[in-house]
Amino acid sequence: MTERLVSSVQYLRGVGPARARALEKSGIRSVEDLLLYAPRRYVDRRQCRRLDTLQEGQTATVLAEVLTAHVTRGRRSRFVARISDGTGAASCVWFRAIPYVRGALRAGDLVVLSGKVGSWRGELQFAHPEFETVGSADDREGDEELLEETLHAGRLIPIYPLTADLRSVGLASRGLRRIVRTALDSVGTDLKETLTPEQLERHALPGIREAFEQLHFPADPGHAAAAHARLAYEEFFYMQLLLADRSRAVKQRRGHAFRTWGPLVRAYLEGLGFVLTGAQQRVLAEVFEDMGRARPMNRLLQGDVGSGKTVIAAAVMLTAVQSGMQAALMAPTEILAEQHAGYLREQFARLDVPVHLLSSRLGSGERKILLQALAGDRPLIVIGTHALIQADVDFARLGAVVVDEQHRFGVLQRGALQAKGVDPDVLVMTATPIPRTLAMTLYGDLETSVIDEMPPGRRPVATHRVSLSRKEEVIGRVRKVLDSGAQVYWVFPLVEETEKSDLAAAVESYERLSGGPLADHRLGLVHGRLGSEEKERTMSLFRRGEIDLLVATTVIEVGVDVPGATMILIDHAERFGLSQLHQLRGRVGRGGGDSTCILLTGSNLTPEAESRLKAMVETTDGFAIAEADLEIRGPGEFFGTRQHGLPSLRIANLITDSRLLAAARTDAFAALGLGEDDARDRLGADPDRLALWRDAIARRLGERIVLADIA
Ligand code: ADP
Ligand code: MG
Repeated sequence: MTERLVSSVQYLRGVGPARARALEKSGIRSVEDLLLYAPRRYVDRRQCRRLDTLQEGQTATVLAEVLTAHVTRGRRSRFVARISDGTGAASCVWFRAIPYVRGALRAGDLVVLSGKVGSWRGELQFAHPEFETVGSADDREGDEELLEETLHAGRLIPIYPLTADLRSVGLASRGLRRIVRTALDSVGTDLKETLTPEQLERHALPGIREAFEQLHFPADPGHAAAAHARLAYEEFFYMQLLLADRSRAVKQRRGHAFRTWGPLVRAYLEGLGFVLTGAQQRVLAEVFEDMGRARPMNRLLQGDVGSGKTVIAAAVMLTAVQSGMQAALMAPTEILAEQHAGYLREQFARLDVPVHLLSSRLGSGERKILLQALAGDRPLIVIGTHALIQADVDFARLGAVVVDEQHRFGVLQRGALQAKGVDPDVLVMTATPIPRTLAMTLYGDLETSVIDEMPPGRRPVATHRVSLSRKEEVIGRVRKVLDSGAQVYWVFPLVEETEKSDLAAAVESYERLSGGPLADHRLGLVHGRLGSEEKERTMSLFRRGEIDLLVATTVIEVGVDVPGATMILIDHAERFGLSQLHQLRGRVGRGGGDSTCILLTGSNLTPEAESRLKAMVETTDGFAIAEADLEIRGPGEFFGTRQHGLPSLRIANLITDSRLLAAARTDAFAALGLGEDDARDRLGADPDRLALWRDAIARRLGERIVLADIA
């Protein structure tokens, strides 16, 4: 069967325990993992020039061996390497980034190198060329000629993602190619085609053996691209099959058919003091249609910061309470949970609906009482962080769950809370607009609603980038804003590795400002090291307008609502992610007046940081920001870490392969009879085929995803 595919790489000829350990660190355990370890790119050897044909002034790429490489100290240190490709020789020189180059380029390495050809003392020279190691001295085994072998390896040389661990056990690119070859030769008939002939034909994809062969040893770029497409489609297809299965399972479950638009909801809406925007009304209708049905709601609500999602959340929870059930709201931080609890208590007091807060600050006695209330059958509302999904929390009649700012929670956590009710209705809310392709993978099992309209009177926040060296000038502007009676945020970054010094920077600025230029205004300071009581006290003073300027680390990031604040300064803005910057900017512009966001930046920024700042200055559209963020950071980091629920993709790319994703999604849903047409027959999704797919999913996604019952 698939024995050889699932067997450990350790038993491949040429691997052994030490190499197996290094491979495991790159996520490669089984032979199949190794086959799925895709080259990062290919170097087309046909585009490499011979050194003896190069002339000064040309820009060229060469494939050569490093003869010597060392640092030369003089008036100015430099790193010098001599290279040769058998036809001629040249030198390469670096004046900058010497430690990096020294680590990456060593005598005996085979490199692909490109740059402008110059000359130095009568010899060809590349200054600061780009280079990539395609084989290394560590790879040498026996007496084979490294250059010779690589030259005959084919026209395209695959370049694998390399790590120091892999390198240290002789698995630089050439070493990897060798064991991949062994793996491919060893799997034989264990490598089974899993896609149907219909799928292959319709999307013009190569078969599985051909795909792996051409992924690692392509004859030309076209074959490499086809191989990638096949494996990317397959990866998307399995993922979508899983989501399709999940969505089918939800549709088959029974939930509570709530009475919507009940008197509690009406009273709440009437007491708001404003009318809902068109978008809010539409979304509320969508949500209530779900809630009125006998199957559980499973909906994602997207809406930019400040678009008014809280009203929808409140209406959902009241609808559950109206039917005598419990409702829970899960927030990503304690501060937000407290803010929500404060707001809802205020709003619901007149409706006589109890709102509880499950906080880590509760004493054990209070906590016990609350847990008893949750286990009892009185209708109530409870707000909390992920403390809500702890094992000792039991709900007797959980009817509705709202998850705020979902990007902080993973799919698994979402599932855990869901499992606490008898199929409660679930509304997941996010203020980070999610690009379409990402939404399809992350929330492909959810229906989506979008609030695409801001409450009236909002004006876009004017955004400026200012160098940190002009801080004094900026403080002058801050003072003017404060003098006019408005409030200001001043946010400092808090990056984990440098946590201490950043914290010191925030504290120091606070002290300097309150002692000096802003002494006649009321300043407050919040940061993550403060106890939550103190944090909350300061936040609520700010909210009530009793603090004028709030110095903060990013604890204020999500959802905090202070209409009187019209200016936000972000210190070292280059250190923040784009979505985070956008979230922060969303703290102002809530009161209807003109608002400003000032991005204070250091010097010598990375190109990525430059693009982030540029996007911030150019647009305030959350979706445009999200698309830009996805492009700059790549999908892997869009949501921070893997724990945040984004399945890691090995082959496919959410941006460049989005067309394949759409095709895979259509096919997967159709294969389970969920599409527009029931395409189970056309797709050959008979029980045997489904079993094949289920095995493949278990193998490839297994540990990361809990498998529901496909087929
Ligand atoms: P978010 O979507 O970021 O959670 P909120 O629900 O916190 O946004 O709403 C932001 C602010 O806008 C709140 O002060 C809220 O009371 C107000 N608001 C919400 N909807 C409307 C509306 N239709 N008209 C006027 N103000 C509104
Ligand atoms: Mg909110």
